[in-house]
Amino acid sequence: MNVLSDRIINLTESATLRMAALARELQQKGVNVINLSLGEPDFQTPQHIKDAAKKAIDDGYTFYTPVSGYLDLRQAICAKFKRENGLDYTPDQIVVSTGAKQSIINVVLCMVNPGDEVILPAPYWVSYAAMVELAEGKVVELPTGIEKNFKMTAQQLEAAITPKSKLIIFSSPSNPTGMVYTKDELHDIAKVIAAHPNLYIVSDEIYEHINYSGKHESIAQFDFVKDRVITVNGLSKGFAMTGWRLGYIGAPVAIAKACDKMQGQFTSGTCSITQRAAIAALNESLAPTIEMREAFHRRRDLVLSLLADIPGIKGYTPEGAFYVFSDMSSFIGKTDGTTTIKDIDDLSMYILDKAYISTVAGSQFGDDQCIRMSYATSEDKLIEAGKRLKEALAQLK
Ligand code: PMP
Ligand code: GLU
Repeated sequence: MNVLSDRIINLTESATLRMAALARELQQKGVNVINLSLGEPDFQTPQHIKDAAKKAIDDGYTFYTPVSGYLDLRQAICAKFKRENGLDYTPDQIVVSTGAKQSIINVVLCMVNPGDEVILPAPYWVSYAAMVELAEGKVVELPTGIEKNFKMTAQQLEAAITPKSKLIIFSSPSNPTGMVYTKDELHDIAKVIAAHPNLYIVSDEIYEHINYSGKHESIAQFDFVKDRVITVNGLSKGFAMTGWRLGYIGAPVAIAKACDKMQGQFTSGTCSITQRAAIAALNESLAPTIEMREAFHRRRDLVLSLLADIPGIKGYTPEGAFYVFSDMSSFIGKTDGTTTIKDIDDLSMYILDKAYISTVAGSQFGDDQCIRMSYATSEDKLIEAGKRLKEALAQLK
């Protein structure tokens, strides 16, 4: 008999975290690796948020919190939803968790029965598929591709829906592609879903503030579908708070209650100090967030110009998040004389071995032609990475 459960044996390891760990390991051995695999802002958390956390410790916020989060934090989240997204939620519809990752697994475990189908427009964030599998749901991939700007169409979605469809999960701005749905596109998707009363939407909006195409649009803004949307957000990306661990949902009350019950058996409420800091993040000025977005925008343009200079790469201009997802399939089948590139995973490993750049292969996101690179790193490192990548790829014939 195995020591470990089938559940954990069958669970796919997070590719983003695995590649980041590999990069760290090499760095510890003295290799000068440029880490473009992990998606996290390289900025410090804004000072006023840090100050709020320090004050929380001094003010004695050291006890367990309500499972769903402090009431005044949930009120601040409702105010944020109203102010920034035009969404009406009440505090009993909000559940605060230990990162958006936990917010999503809460929802998946609370809503998906074994055999239920969960639609994932591909490319999708790695963890969605693993979470669905953990709940014994069935992943139904909707392939898009660079030619379609990585966007699912309403018709494609309609064709994928069956009586077993329970959830659709997507992010806009998207990880890994940086694609952003327009309001009209979201409206069309919402209309399809509205016609299928058992189908719910998990709208992952964690990259809301890193959007270069204009105003962020939430699918829950359409009243005819709002009671079937779980809006997910968090502080990791927009406020440079990855290590603090805070995510949240706005959801129909029954789903929020279920998530509270689930979380009550797993982790309880997230860190009390983080929650107090989150109130400052949500209630106070977005100026530092906007500054970070502007820096990401400049880096995006820099990376796109570096990639445009490398033969064999088909680029896509991301409109949000901090990733480029580039078609590098032209290198599949090529060799440098010793290594033959059989697939996109081989190419990602070749780039690590030869150029010392860690990336994430698209296969992990449901796309076998592209490679994801995070540009949430300094311009100097990006320029160096561009140089190394060009040299390494030029050796493949
Ligand atoms: N959703 C997406 C699309 C992400 O890229 C991430 C990144 N970690 C998360 C959710 C989870 O974020 P966190 O748990 O740090 O809030
Ligand atoms: N979401 C980030 C990424 O995709 C962080 C790592 C993770 O949680 O997967 O790289």
